[in-house]
Amino acid sequence: MDLKCQFCGREVRETVHCKKLPDGFQVDYYQVWTGELRPIVMKNQKDEREVLHFFRLDAAHSVAACRECFQKEEVKTELERAFRQLPEVVEEEEEE
Ligand SMILES: [Zn+2]
Repeated sequence: MDLKCQFCGREVRETVHCKKLPDGFQVDYYQVWTGELRPIVMKNQKDEREVLHFFRLDAAHSVAACRECFQKEEVKTELERAFRQLPEVVEEEEEE
């Protein structure tokens, strides 16, 4: 699958590792994963007194930005937001 920058649309390449490059590698794009998160509350199967809280990732999708776009402040902000995005945690009644 070809990966494209979501901000300018150009195709991006995998990170290139090469000793000749100034830092030994060249990053062509930055990618974060985000998606729909659903809070799950359930009892620990091994110990019913313990209640587990976690998020299930329902629809994962990635956001990619090429290295030129990543220099832009608004693109960085957008990726940061996608990365940190967490739904409001709603207190739910425990199901028996
Ligand atoms: Zn771009």
